[in-house]
Amino acid sequence: MFIPRKRTTPNDSTKYVISKNAIEITQKVLQDYAHLKPSNEGLVYWCGKKTHDTVSISLVIAPKTTSDWGYISTSNRANFDLVKTLAEKNQIHIGQIHSHPGTVVDHSDGDDLDASFKTEGLISIVVPNYCKEGFLPLTTCGVHRYNQGNFQRFSDKYVSQHFEISEKLSCDFVDFRK
Ligand SMILES: [Zn+2]
Repeated sequence: MFIPRKRTTPNDSTKYVISKNAIEITQKVLQDYAHLKPSNEGLVYWCGKKTHDTVSISLVIAPKTTSDWGYISTSNRANFDLVKTLAEKNQIHIGQIHSHPGTVVDHSDGDDLDASFKTEGLISIVVPNYCKEGFLPLTTCGVHRYNQGNFQRFSDKYVSQHFEISEKLSCDFVDFRK
């Protein structure tokens, strides 16, 4: 039986500013996976900078993955590629975005257990329907943050008030899929 995850509205002043270009790149990569036959889950990493309470997303990395209709994973080598790219570009890992086959956008047990990265504050966004219809507004997704050992899903209120999309912020793209 599916039990929806409890939603949280943390009392903090963190702002997440996402480059509009990062949204477009993410959508394109997830839709590449969606266009496979059958559709596959897709995954990208969001990276950028953090200054005081503002987190900016200005780099999208598409890791090399193993995927099928209901599953996606990365290798140690792919994780190394991410860390190396971050070091080269002087950016930090901000989150992971992956798609699900249906409308359930809570983290699955596997998403909790097998996440390659579990660092405090890491964002994890789950996009419904293989991103076939895009993933905006973000409240159509499950937006989680790793906090004290668990991925906690934000309320729509928190997502609406703390996430914004910027046309001014540029975005870089590194693609390891081939
Ligand atoms: Zn998942």
